[in-house]
Amino acid sequence: MKATYEAVFVGSSVMPVHFDTEKCIGCHRCANACQTDILLPIDGKGKPPTVMYPGECWYCGACVMECPTGAISLSHPLMNRARFINADSLGK
Ligand code: SF4
Ligand code: SF4
Repeated sequence: MKATYEAVFVGSSVMPVHFDTEKCIGCHRCANACQTDILLPIDGKGKPPTVMYPGECWYCGACVMECPTGAISLSHPLMNRARFINADSLGK
């Protein structure tokens, strides 16, 4: 018996995962590796999964490490790219 499930896209102000469609072979290893299950495999040879819940990404990089073709890149949020320093070191 075949089961059908429905998933509803939940938008976010960030899009953490980007796919290079030229490199993707549609294996969906990234979707299987994602521990938060935000990637939904879609039918179609050579197509990357859909990012259904971008706001739930942990930026763990598991999908990037699992991808055999290097088709995935992560875009970390601005706050994670910032370097916080002690105000005392600024001489104020
Ligand atoms: S970085 Fe981690 S949580 Fe985000 S999509 Fe990849 S595997 Fe999933
Ligand atoms: S693991 Fe890489 S090649 Fe496979 S579907 Fe994901 S992005 Fe495409």
